[in-house]
Amino acid sequence: MVWVQSGAQLGELFYAIARLSTHLAFPARLCPTVGVGGHFSGGFGTLVRKYSLAADNVIDDYLMDSRSRILNRKAMGGEVFWAIRGGGAGSFGIVLSLR
Ligand SMILES: Cc1cc2nc3c(=O)[nH]c(=O)nc-3n(C[C@H](O)[C@H](O)[C@H](O)COP(=O)(O)OP(=O)(O)OC[C@H]3O[C@@H](n4cnc5c(N)ncnc54)[C@H](O)[C@@H]3O)c2cc1C
Repeated sequence: MVWVQSGAQLGELFYAIARLSTHLAFPARLCPTVGVGGHFSGGFGTLVRKYSLAADNVIDDYLMDSRSRILNRKAMGGEVFWAIRGGGAGSFGIVLSLR
């Protein structure tokens, strides 16, 4: 499991994983300049049939809400955690990083 900051691009994530492992991957789009922040709120990639959406593989987040609180999955609650993984990206706060 890894944490990735939402400002990273997919190419940076894939490169970091490749440096750490010869057999692990992450099921997101191939285009290297797409941002993690937007893509992980519902994007799909070439591994989708076997490993599902990028968002389905996110198991925790840090989110800054409109009151400047930084919330992890437990603190934001299941409904918000579900919503930021496909319910509308920026509508629920700023995702800072994802596990
Ligand atoms: C060349 C190219 C190829 C693509 N191929 C695919 C593909 O194969 N499959 C696919 O599913 N999509 C694909 N996309 C679409 C891409 O996944 C979306 O456009 C994605 O939303 C881009 O995210 P971004 O962070 O780069 O863009 P941005 O424009 O920065 O963000 C897009 C949306 O996400 C929100 N957002 C971004 N960061 C955060 C954050 N940290 N917290 C909260 N909200 C945030 C923004 O508010 C905005 O509403 C492709 C796009 C491009 C340009």
